[in-house]
Amino acid sequence: MQNSDGVWEIVERKRAAFFELSDRIWDIPETNYLEYQSAEEHARLLESEGFRVERGIADLPTAVMGEAGEGGPIIAILGEFDALPGLSQQAGIAEERPLVDGGNGHGCGHNMLGAGSMLAAAAVKDFLAENGLKGRVRYYGCPAEEGGSSKGFMVRAGIFDDVDIAISWHPAAFAGVNNPISLACNEINFHFSGRASHASATPHLGRSALDAVELMNVGVNYMREHMPSTARIHYAITDAGGAAPNVVQARATVRYLIRARTLPELLSLVARVKKVAEGAALMTETTVRSEIISGDANLVGNTPLEECMFSHLQRLGPPVFDDADRETARKFQETFNAEDIAASYGRFALKPKKDQPLCEEIFPLSAGDGTLVGSTDVGTVSWVVPTVQMRGATYAIGTPGHSWQLVAQGKLPVAHKGTEHAAKVMASTAADLIRNPELIKAAKADHQARLEGTPFINPIPDDVAPPLPEKAHA
Ligand SMILES: [Zn+2]
Repeated sequence: MQNSDGVWEIVERKRAAFFELSDRIWDIPETNYLEYQSAEEHARLLESEGFRVERGIADLPTAVMGEAGEGGPIIAILGEFDALPGLSQQAGIAEERPLVDGGNGHGCGHNMLGAGSMLAAAAVKDFLAENGLKGRVRYYGCPAEEGGSSKGFMVRAGIFDDVDIAISWHPAAFAGVNNPISLACNEINFHFSGRASHASATPHLGRSALDAVELMNVGVNYMREHMPSTARIHYAITDAGGAAPNVVQARATVRYLIRARTLPELLSLVARVKKVAEGAALMTETTVRSEIISGDANLVGNTPLEECMFSHLQRLGPPVFDDADRETARKFQETFNAEDIAASYGRFALKPKKDQPLCEEIFPLSAGDGTLVGSTDVGTVSWVVPTVQMRGATYAIGTPGHSWQLVAQGKLPVAHKGTEHAAKVMASTAADLIRNPELIKAAKADHQARLEGTPFINPIPDDVAPPLPEKAHA
């Protein structure tokens, strides 16, 4: 394909409604599996665009899917719309000022992520219709990326079984084709049970679950020296067994978040942490029960897809911003320290540049090799479907992830321009794939070769229910 064959023009024609969607989702920040209004906003726009819409897919009340087109290959474009707790912030000002004290905020830019992905899907839908092409495009509105692993549950439910290729993006400071590095992870509760007793009169009759938690943490801390240096283990004591020191704590819970570079490495690390928990139980004559909350696989890259998407990004060119955008971004940069800005570049192994408020270039395809980041549930999808992602430049360079500054920039012209830029790259990549079965074949061959001999084991076992909050059942 020599140019976008009109796909970018379709994006431009349709963008206004999607900028509005992004802003509306920003206005109603909802967290993990409580995104009822956000999911409904997505479903309605899909319907008004003429998609065939399914709500509550994979038994997740806030997951939504829209499909358009007939026959041919199936291209999935993944979106998200969940917010983060405690990040309420007024829009557009470079000063920390919550809208609602203790309220939620879109600190990861998922308002843009969902709207941009749906804009791409809607453009592909029109492109298919206008050119009479066989092929289907699906928009998946995936809830609860922030700790809910919804895509892992969607994979388990077989939602992606007939999908040929998955495409996504994430708002970022820089524009580039995402280097597929993310860690596989599991979040697990360890519930210890002991025996309550008067801590002074009959301490010998008590068996402390809190002691077990502390010993487990000590054991895992010793284990750190003997695990892969790229692995990460974090914990939080979520139930210390009560506030009374004169009662031997009969129950206590510690939540572990275990991360590793690959899925097999994660599964072996999880098994070792479980042994430490059992050891702590043995030492304290308590019992322990482990409960998996969520889990993501690591991202699996795909060279043909990354090269294809990167060629579309190069053809489109870098995002275009104006003086007003740069001026606003500079104001936000004044609220960052030098380390924030260096970290922004460092994630991609680049040296910080002077006076560069916004990304107005394209990152090389190889940027970021070797840097470690967090985890994403897109990883689990990438094990079952060849998947490609890009980063779209939507905010000032140096903006910390999950920060009030990121929330504040979520409705600016830069956010809209970066969203449109990413939507164009995703849409023309999808159109290219639909017209070139050889490309899909190459992507599938690459996927198969990478996973040869490594069976996919979903880090969310079959008996684990999605961590829907109480209200989700109401
Ligand atoms: Zn995110």
